[in-house]
Amino acid sequence: MKVYNTLTKRKEELIPVKEGEIKMYVCGPTVYNLIHIGNARPMIVFDTVRRYLEYKGYQVNYVSNFTDVDDKIIQKALEEGVSAEEISSRYIEECKKDMAGMQVLPATTHPLATQEIDGMIEMIRTLIEKGFAYPAADGTVYFRVNRFLEYGKLSHKNLEDLQSGFRSLQVSGEEQKESPLDFVLWKPKKEGEPYWESPWCQGRPGWHIECSVMAKKYLGEEIDIHAGGEDLIFPHHENEIAQSECCNGKPFARYWLHNAFLNIDNKKMSKSLGNFFTVREISKEYDLQVLRFFMLNAHYRSPLNFSRELMESSKNALERICNGVEYLKDCEKAAGREAPSEQEAGQKQEIDGYVKKFEEAMEDDFNTADAIAAVFELVRFANSSLSDASARELLQYALEKLQMLCGLLGLRTEQKEEILEEEIEALIEERQAARAAKDFARADAIREELKARGILLKDTREGVKWKKA
Ligand code: AMP
Ligand code: ZN
Repeated sequence: MKVYNTLTKRKEELIPVKEGEIKMYVCGPTVYNLIHIGNARPMIVFDTVRRYLEYKGYQVNYVSNFTDVDDKIIQKALEEGVSAEEISSRYIEECKKDMAGMQVLPATTHPLATQEIDGMIEMIRTLIEKGFAYPAADGTVYFRVNRFLEYGKLSHKNLEDLQSGFRSLQVSGEEQKESPLDFVLWKPKKEGEPYWESPWCQGRPGWHIECSVMAKKYLGEEIDIHAGGEDLIFPHHENEIAQSECCNGKPFARYWLHNAFLNIDNKKMSKSLGNFFTVREISKEYDLQVLRFFMLNAHYRSPLNFSRELMESSKNALERICNGVEYLKDCEKAAGREAPSEQEAGQKQEIDGYVKKFEEAMEDDFNTADAIAAVFELVRFANSSLSDASARELLQYALEKLQMLCGLLGLRTEQKEEILEEEIEALIEERQAARAAKDFARADAIREELKARGILLKDTREGVKWKKA
């Protein structure tokens, strides 16, 4: 299986550190608002990578963090007059709902930066001891970039060019740095901000150290795949490499995978530009499966321009696949014959051919666009060459393969399944228990989950009532 590695700028054979296992870290969102569909791109893309690796038999340990301490979170908390923790936990819950709607599987672990402060202090201490970091007079700790000779190897930047670029950009308050390239590992608190005790000052960690520490704690010192959007290559991932490799004395990640941007009018969709749609907004108009399909229809390293037209054509295309599944199911029900004829053995091979095409596309740096093309070939084959006159076994085989391929892309081919009354009652009971325990986030999540499945709840004096939407 070949993957494109930003580190070497080449497609390389995927060889894990430990046979049969993949340790994978994907930088997650900063949680101060609902996620936008640009943030959804790495989630969908790398979830698909994970599903395929699992299909190939790897045991995948998939870690994706939530950055829950950050200037933007603090700013939002001040605006609303609530704690930073309230903001981050609210948007983590909202993000998880969006992920579920997009069929993004929960990570093996979703660590929170604020829960890992001890590990960060530990890593910073080691970096200081080894001479790779230094505290300044006000308690800020900086990473000493000049000490790491490989700095720039991921972003393919030259240290001297970086230095001259930075010199002209130097901003005030940074005089205490030894070099303009040095970046913050720990910074002093400001009035009203959350802070933690540390040997250097009461303060909070820099953003980059979070990921180095969480990757180490949950995956180990040497990991297989580190992924995120291409805007993270520099400085975030470059700095993660510097911290981890200087601390651990080992190469950090073997393969660096980066998705290209989701654009709108050919500009990066971003909160700061204000040109974004949230996943939640899109979910009001489309099943989020359509969004997932739209994303996977492009190769993850190609820029993708968001448009209504493409969403509409994705919706139609997805419907064609679902109709193909329905068609095979109907044929199977009506089939009068079990065992395949000799001629049908050839058709089985043809089905295998489409599966192989799908696998070849995925194994060429996760070319989901070509993989989807193979799914369509299978649908077309089913529609034109199979019918209720085919052997049931053959129809079952085609159906199973088609559903399996869609599953690997994280696409649901079934109509939304009917929810059973017992299941509704059980969820209502769980919601009541969550409310009693003041776990309102969970209680809300249950209400949303039921809503997504067409069940509306009403709290009345006689208890909770539900009805179908
Ligand atoms: P942030 O919350 O900005 O740190 O972003 C979380 C993840 O979303 C990172 O991997 C970013 O690279 C990615 N991301 C943000 N905006 C876009 C975009 N317009 N297209 C693709 N990925 C994006
Ligand atoms: Zn990160």
